[in-house]
Amino acid sequence: MATLAPAPAAPPGKKLLKRAAPDRSQALRRGFQLAFLALNVWIAAEFYLFVRYYETGGRSVWASRPPGVEGWLPIASLMNLKVLLVTGQTPRLHPAGMFLLIAFLAMSWIFRKSFCGWLCPVGTISEYLWRLGHRTFGRNFRLPRRLDIGLRSLKYILLGLFLYAVVSMPVPAIRAFLEGPYGIVDDVKMLNFFRFLGLTGGIVVALLVLASVFVQNFWCRYLCPYGALMGFASLASPLRIRRETSLCIDCGKCTKACPSALPVDQLITIQSAECTGCMQCVAVCPAAGALLMSAPRRKHVPVWVVAAGVAGLFLGVCGYAQWTGHWRTELPSRLYFELIPHANEFTHP
Ligand code: SF4
Ligand code: SF4
Repeated sequence: MATLAPAPAAPPGKKLLKRAAPDRSQALRRGFQLAFLALNVWIAAEFYLFVRYYETGGRSVWASRPPGVEGWLPIASLMNLKVLLVTGQTPRLHPAGMFLLIAFLAMSWIFRKSFCGWLCPVGTISEYLWRLGHRTFGRNFRLPRRLDIGLRSLKYILLGLFLYAVVSMPVPAIRAFLEGPYGIVDDVKMLNFFRFLGLTGGIVVALLVLASVFVQNFWCRYLCPYGALMGFASLASPLRIRRETSLCIDCGKCTKACPSALPVDQLITIQSAECTGCMQCVAVCPAAGALLMSAPRRKHVPVWVVAAGVAGLFLGVCGYAQWTGHWRTELPSRLYFELIPHANEFTHP
C-alpha cells in the first residue's frame, strides 16, 4: 500500500520535497488485476460447462465455448502468429488466442511488461501469495544472488525451446497439428490436466504455491516462459522508470518495494526485462518527482495513461478481432461430441 509517512530523513546536502498527494497507482492496478482474474474465473466456469455438455452427450447444462480460453494456449497462439506472419492469413482455429497474444505483446512492448504486472491472473495470485507470506512471517525471502540469476535463466531456456519448436515447424505442419484432433481439443486437455491432477502434478502445484508464499513472484520470476516473452517485448519499450537523482533522498524504499528485486535506488533508468511496470516503487517513494514512469525526453507518464493504454490495447485488439469475424473458433457440434469425451486419448503428434 502506498504511504506518505513516516517520511525518511534526507541525507546531508539533500532536501526532501514531500509528495503533495498519496499515490493511487496500486489501487488502480489492483482493480485491473482483480477484474481480469474475475474474467478468467468466469471463462473457466463457462468452459467447464461447455466441456461437460459434450462429455455427457448433451445431458448437462449447455454453455457456448468462451473464446477467451484460448489465452491459456500460448503455444497454439504462437503457432497461429507464425502462420499469420508467413502467409498473411488469419487462422481458423484458436484465432482469439493469437489476438490476445498480440494484445499482450503490444501492451508489454509499450508499457513495460505490463501484461505481467497489470493483468496476468497467475501474476495476481502470485502477488497475493507473497503478500500472505509477508503478512504471516513479516518478510519475504530473496535467494542468494548467484542462485537467483541461475534460476531466472530457466524461463528464458524454456521460452527458447518453445520458440525453436514453433519457428522450425513449417506452416503446413502447424496447420495439420492445429486442425487435427489434438489441436482442436488442446484446451480441453489443459482443463483435464487441472481437473484430474495426479499425485505428481498435485505435489508440483503445491510446491509452487508454497515457494510463492516465501519468494516474491516465484513462478513469474523463474519459470514462466510467457512472461519471458513479454520481457523481451518490453526491452524495446519507449517507457521506463526514471529516478531523478537531484530529488532522490537515497532512502532505498523503492528497491525494497520492487517485487522483481531490481536495484531501483542504484540506477537512473530501469531497462530490465524483469520490470513489470507495476509502479510499486513509484508508489512508495516519499520524494515528489524523484521516481516516475517516463517517456522519451523525460516526459512524465501518469499512471492513468498506463491504465488507459493497457485497457485500450486489450479491448481494442479483442474488439477488432470480433468486429472482423476472427474471434470465435467455429466448429460443428458433431465434432465436439466426437472428440471431447476422448480428449485424453489424443497424444502429441
Ligand atoms: S522497477 Fe518499479 S515498476 Fe519495475 S518491477 Fe520494480 S517496482 Fe515494478
Ligand atoms: S527514488 Fe527510491 S531511494 Fe530515491 S527517494 Fe524515491 S524511494 Fe527513496
